[in-house]
Amino acid sequence: MSRAQKSSGLTLRARHILPMCFGPIDSGWIRIQQGRIVAMGRRSPPGSVLDLGDAIVLPGLVNAHTHLEFSDQAQPLSGDGGLPEWIQRVMRVRRARADLLAEDSESARQHTAARIAEAVGRGLQESAAAGVTAIGEIVTAFVPDALSSIGPRVRAYRESIGLSSAAVDASHSQLVCDLDRLAARGIAAGISPHAPYSVAASLGNKLLHTARLRRLPVAMHLAESPHEDALLARGAGPFRTLLENLGVWQSDSPPQLLSAADWITKLSRAARGLVVHGTFLAESGDGEAIARLSYHRDRLAVAICPRTTQLLSGVLPPLARFRNAGIRVAIGTDSRASSPDLSVLAECRVLVDAGLASPEEVLRMATQHAAWAVAMEHRSGSLAIGRPADLAIVRPTTFPKDPYESAIDLSTAVVATLRSGRVIAGELPGASVLSQISAKGDLLPHMRR
Ligand SMILES: [Zn+2]
Repeated sequence: MSRAQKSSGLTLRARHILPMCFGPIDSGWIRIQQGRIVAMGRRSPPGSVLDLGDAIVLPGLVNAHTHLEFSDQAQPLSGDGGLPEWIQRVMRVRRARADLLAEDSESARQHTAARIAEAVGRGLQESAAAGVTAIGEIVTAFVPDALSSIGPRVRAYRESIGLSSAAVDASHSQLVCDLDRLAARGIAAGISPHAPYSVAASLGNKLLHTARLRRLPVAMHLAESPHEDALLARGAGPFRTLLENLGVWQSDSPPQLLSAADWITKLSRAARGLVVHGTFLAESGDGEAIARLSYHRDRLAVAICPRTTQLLSGVLPPLARFRNAGIRVAIGTDSRASSPDLSVLAECRVLVDAGLASPEEVLRMATQHAAWAVAMEHRSGSLAIGRPADLAIVRPTTFPKDPYESAIDLSTAVVATLRSGRVIAGELPGASVLSQISAKGDLLPHMRR
């Protein structure tokens, strides 16, 4: 690329620019050069411009919590019976894949890995098409190459599960191995103790020690079900039945499990931590858990997944309680095993339609807060000069006074998603103009997978 080409760039003009780190710019423009935002302003920009008409430019959305390995699910699994029953259905899906592994042949292993990789690739594409440019992903048995593709940025939290001492050691060894693999591929990593009912205290200690040593963020499902406390406090309830059925609960030597409040203290020892769901946190330990979360809010955020919580618990996330406790709340979709799609905007609409939040608040949760939650706030979540040009360009059909309302309206379409100035899904309106600019500039017209 010549010096002249390097100095060229692209200026987009739109009805509204929503930087999120400050107020809307009506009739605004944003200039991108070498993948970064170099200027923003109102009305007439200097030089040539690509006019997006009535479109709205906002930061690329951040999906704070998902499991892309289930992106090949045509529809969510049934939520009947709540989380303990749903987990068994998920395990049946996993077992169908693992049956191949039982053959213990390299070809069976490769087949399973390829299937998961295909689902993850599909999930990344679906996410990009929905305006998502960064994802907090939970990784289990395989680390697909797709995670380091040119699609959305990924924070890959390696999940660990283990109750018996043998499982604890094996789980931690595998974690260390996979963290090295993630680092070798240049994928931003994290560590995820799965949940209080599946991770023994001793494994928790190892995981948090490793997170501190490697300076990695952590994420953990916590207080997702009203039945968790019964197991943690008294070793009883549907989770005990589940663990007994799985053969991992020994009555004569039950595993040492930690309360939600104790887990919050542990998670706060990492540089950044994400509590996933937290639906029943306020009821846990007579309010001790949510009080501790509030105390550690400079390090810990919550990710809520409204449609999943509705499916598995029949309620919506207690957003007001988190808000009143001063806790940052991010939005995630969870997986296609509990959600019909990977649309962050659809999750936003559920909260607005229920009167739980304003359009501006949900968009902040889906951008700034979610980027902070997955420790990507310096690259994602807001439009600011010097930041990578990670954008979602949406085209509304209705124009209420509030541009945030316009951006999340059901009829609003995502027309293009850009990561570092590259189009990773959709296409920019006026593509012929764009291709001329691309021939001279550094913005590519399409994602190249
Ligand atoms: Zn999850």
